[in-house]
Amino acid sequence: MTRDGDRAAVYGAEDLVFAETLFAEPLGASGVTGLAAALRADDWWRSNGVAFEVVPARRESDHSSARLARHPGDIAQIRLAIHAEDAATLAHEAAHLVASIHGADSAHGDVFRSAEIDVVTVLCGTSAADRLARSFAAARLGCAPRAWTAPSPTTERGIYGRWRVARLTATPRR
Ligand SMILES: [Zn+2]
Repeated sequence: MTRDGDRAAVYGAEDLVFAETLFAEPLGASGVTGLAAALRADDWWRSNGVAFEVVPARRESDHSSARLARHPGDIAQIRLAIHAEDAATLAHEAAHLVASIHGADSAHGDVFRSAEIDVVTVLCGTSAADRLARSFAAARLGCAPRAWTAPSPTTERGIYGRWRVARLTATPRR
């Protein structure tokens, strides 16, 4: 990564969409790991993303981050900060993986933003993705043409919406 000049503007555009919504609801480590498993199993992700694991933050001060595998036999990792175990942060970090696969040269640049809109479509649904696209446009943050497959429009509710309903209606067993 040579520069990351859009980082603060991207965070601001995301906050306008996600802050104080269900997408920012704290899920806890086990919840967000379950949601990540649902994302990994998704057809669009399997075609356009990469296998990854969610690893716990080591320290209170750790930031969320994502990195591709570094060695053969290694697996990509998403690390979520202790207070960022939520769908919006998972989408952000997962978008870093998609952008990295496609050679993004700037951490929060136009390839990342384009990837994030598609990951949000799949994970959070089309209306959240539309709001994010409008928020980027309002902040004059452009998006690169996608170098991957467009998500299916059948994901109106998103993985998170379906996962949440299943989680709320599941009968806990001990
Ligand atoms: Zn980021």
